[in-house]
Amino acid sequence: MRVIFLDIDGCLNSVSSFIYNNRLRLLGLSDTFSHETLCPIACSNLQYILEECTDVQLVISSTWRKYNTIDELKEKLAACNVCSDRIIGVTPIDMDRYRGTEIKEYVDGHPEIKAFVILDDDSDMKPYLDMLVKVDSRNGLTFTDSEKVIEKLGGPNEKEAQD
Ligand SMILES: [Mg+2]
Repeated sequence: MRVIFLDIDGCLNSVSSFIYNNRLRLLGLSDTFSHETLCPIACSNLQYILEECTDVQLVISSTWRKYNTIDELKEKLAACNVCSDRIIGVTPIDMDRYRGTEIKEYVDGHPEIKAFVILDDDSDMKPYLDMLVKVDSRNGLTFTDSEKVIEKLGGPNEKEAQD
């Protein structure tokens, strides 16, 4: 199984998308608070990965897992056109809140994981710094980041023949 450990704040939203959403609010075109919004372009870039790698599953490592059930997380990502039934779990919450330790705990408990990538705008990922695709929180997940993720996962999977 291939997995992406997915952060949300700074990846599926960004400084740029917050500014955009605040602008919409000031214009009366949105009533959603910016910290609750996701960036449609970043979400589309995540969906691109999921379409290229149809076997890849998502494990949420974001703090959003503390305030949302898996079903709520699925609902929020689905609202942004992400194929959220690929979410299979969340990482455990470590006392020290060190994300690399939380991810290691999950990986150790799931020997079926053969490859994984960490998508995050933070770097507290030891011992897995090599697996990190670090996102710039000013922009969120870019298309270039998505290409890096696919490469790190070992490339797209074989697509089934279509007729
Ligand atoms: Mg983050």
